[in-house]
Amino acid sequence: MPVPYTTGVHRLAPETYAYLQGSCAIGYNNAGLVCSGDEALLVDTMYTLDQTRRMLSAIAGALPTADIRFLVNTHHDGDHWWGNELVTGAEIVSSTEAARAMRHAGPDTTAQFLADPQLRVLLEHFDFSGITPTYPSTTFDGESELAVGTRTVRLIEVGPAHTTGDVIVHVPDERVVFAGDVLVFGGHGVIHSGPVDNCIRACDVILDLDVETVVPGHGPVGGRSEVVGVRDYFESLKAHATSTRERGMSALEAAREFDFGPFADLDHPERVILNIGAVYRELNGDGTPAGLDVLRQMMELEESWKSGSAPGPLRP
Ligand SMILES: [Zn+2]
Repeated sequence: MPVPYTTGVHRLAPETYAYLQGSCAIGYNNAGLVCSGDEALLVDTMYTLDQTRRMLSAIAGALPTADIRFLVNTHHDGDHWWGNELVTGAEIVSSTEAARAMRHAGPDTTAQFLADPQLRVLLEHFDFSGITPTYPSTTFDGESELAVGTRTVRLIEVGPAHTTGDVIVHVPDERVVFAGDVLVFGGHGVIHSGPVDNCIRACDVILDLDVETVVPGHGPVGGRSEVVGVRDYFESLKAHATSTRERGMSALEAAREFDFGPFADLDHPERVILNIGAVYRELNGDGTPAGLDVLRQMMELEESWKSGSAPGPLRP
């Protein structure tokens, strides 16, 4: 039965749950909860303390005896770990690389956004005050397992892909996987790190698992067919960006020429410029992350599509 895309705790399997925020806009991520008796493992916290408090209170209401023993952060983007301090007493786990990257990705990094008159609209409705960055105490490379009550939960590092240290959380006996942001359903995902081939490979790792239910980092809960859709998206993006780069086109020109046909239903088409830029940097051998100028271009692209002043995706 499909899981409704509404804010709150949703049961996915007998003892496995998702907490959804009902939006795939920036800063509205999904979390997960894996229980075994009274012990629980939480997958990710939220962008702000308020969002995280709402999640923890929804979990306490739905599962009053759940004792969160482990907190796994899937990657270092703030909307997946800035609420960590509120999960008191839990062992916080991430990949070694994600934990390293978190040291450079605290809430102070929003200051440059909020000071920018154009970019601030992306984040100004979030309240980042009072956050104390709270880092993982346990890290691993490659794969690891955690015992939650009598249940085994597998952690599989698939980064660098969306970010440098992405991890997916697999619950084998419940046939559920929490994918973090290597998967976004219902909207365009974002390649911050790449290479794009690793984004495709992460989809293959997930498709090789015996799972029925797939929880993306953002967007509604899905299954294997949605993973295939994300894989197709990255394949198309790679082919398109490789070709437009060979023709000497800028990322902006390439974004305007992207064939949105198969992906017309995905929200946030403007993000395609970030992903084309990521493939360009990869092909250029440029290891530096995208600058704020790319975000400004993304916003201008969205505006030009909305106003109809430039060719782009047709929305129903
Ligand atoms: Zn992310």
